[in-house]
Amino acid sequence: EKAALESFRGQKTVTADGIEKILACNIGSPDDVANALDHDCEAIGLFRSEFLFMDSPELPSEDEQFEAYRKVATALKGAPVIIRTLDVGGDKEIPYLHMQKEDNPFMGFRAVRYCLANPDQYKVQLRALLRASAFGDVKIMIPLVTCVEEVKAVKELVEECKHELADEGRKFDENIQVGIMVETPAASLIADKLAEVADFFSIGTNDLIGYTMCADRGNDTISNLYQVYYPSVLRSLKNIIESGSKAGIMVGMCGEAAADPLLEPLLVSWGLEEFSMSAPSILRARKTISQWSKAECDALAEKVLALDTAAEVKAALEAAQK
Ligand code: PEP
Ligand code: MG
Repeated sequence: EKAALESFRGQKTVTADGIEKILACNIGSPDDVANALDHDCEAIGLFRSEFLFMDSPELPSEDEQFEAYRKVATALKGAPVIIRTLDVGGDKEIPYLHMQKEDNPFMGFRAVRYCLANPDQYKVQLRALLRASAFGDVKIMIPLVTCVEEVKAVKELVEECKHELADEGRKFDENIQVGIMVETPAASLIADKLAEVADFFSIGTNDLIGYTMCADRGNDTISNLYQVYYPSVLRSLKNIIESGSKAGIMVGMCGEAAADPLLEPLLVSWGLEEFSMSAPSILRARKTISQWSKAECDALAEKVLALDTAAEVKAALEAAQK
């Protein structure tokens, strides 16, 4: 099994009928890059920058952040590196930010909401990201987007930072891409509109499943509801991928579901371009994708979308597994 997977090392990721895909890795720190490359990833699909903040006793400075981002960009030698701006709140606490206790933190003051309310602090991160973009293909990703306004506001801050850096004579990628996590039902429902303002999408199924099904993954009593196989979640994924593709932007997925071999043929059918996952899943995913043609994926997707329950969907996907 392991030896069979090794034959996929160094290969391109292609479907049985030759459609190329990108297999990327999720990382939490620059120290994870060596392992990611070791497992043959083609890009970094998600660098969770909050770990830089959580591992520090105070806000990391612009230079500290720049160093971390530059390290990753350089190691990837021109391959894409998607770095997500601070995704604080919800399940991710950073003590020195002294955020107020909330009754419902998952629907509270978090992620891009917090960052936009603290623009001077946010600009430190955006400047560091821009400076790192002089060293590789760095892309900025906004977490927990729910409306067009948030994307526009972040892009305005990025433009401000570009002007400042240019005045200071610092180098950066003038055309740096600013994309979004699509991980809320709100974002999914206006995916067509968001595709007009975002340079790429990355689907965060970890949050999207939870918010769509109103089910906390950590809550065992309702864990049966936390599944990607519910028709509501599948319809949402299809809509996001197709809306992004129609607008001509790159659509990837960095939630756990990207590494689910049962789901992968459906994602191929809908046109997902980048699959981002933890390092040990990469070669297995390359194998799975190589086993399916687009026509087979389309037939399976059509069949599965007609089903009514998660159990039926999962059973159909299992029966079709190669
Ligand atoms: C997600 O929500 O799917 C995701 C990738 O982000 P995180 O798990 O960091 O919330
Ligand atoms: Mg998330």
